[in-house]
Amino acid sequence: MAETLRFACRCGTLRGEVTDVSPAAYTNIVCHCTDCRSAYTHLGIADPEKVGILQTTQDRIRITQGGEKLRLFRLSARGALRWYATCCDTPLFYTPTKARAVHVGLNADRLEHPDALGPVTAEAFIPAGPGKTKNRGLGRMVGRMVTRMAAKNLNGEWRDTPFFDADGAPARPPQVLSREERAAALMKVSR
Ligand SMILES: [Zn+2]
Ligand SMILES: [Zn+2]
Repeated sequence: MAETLRFACRCGTLRGEVTDVSPAAYTNIVCHCTDCRSAYTHLGIADPEKVGILQTTQDRIRITQGGEKLRLFRLSARGALRWYATCCDTPLFYTPTKARAVHVGLNADRLEHPDALGPVTAEAFIPAGPGKTKNRGLGRMVGRMVTRMAAKNLNGEWRDTPFFDADGAPARPPQVLSREERAAALMKVSR
């Protein structure tokens, strides 16, 4: 039976759930990249060094409380949309810039029961010596993402998203970090 996973910001004002979570509906990954970590340091949180992410589709995200606290920034003009709660500056999600891409990553540290996700099946940008990184399980991860996107585009469920308006614009105006803000966030990421 599919289950529901609850999540909340650090202060508990913004709350929600990931609905209908069956093993095919999500991928449990860990990302070591500087962008995922910068989303924390930009908001004044210590570098987490790696970020656990539940990858699923936007139609499975329900914000049940405190949705007016949801805002977003982009680390650069071409960056993903980084969604956070303004009540306590907690990074929550990232999404691509288009609703039809259907993908969303929820920071696993915001789940009430992160252990419910089971094993990590992909890991990206793992440090592997000076200036080098390696990946594990990315082919399968991307394959699952593409399969979900195709299915949701076919059945129209890509429209059911809390992150984009009916006309396809982000539900909140994105704030693009200045070069200085981006540099300041990166400075706090250890490498
Ligand atoms: Zn909060
Ligand atoms: Zn990342």
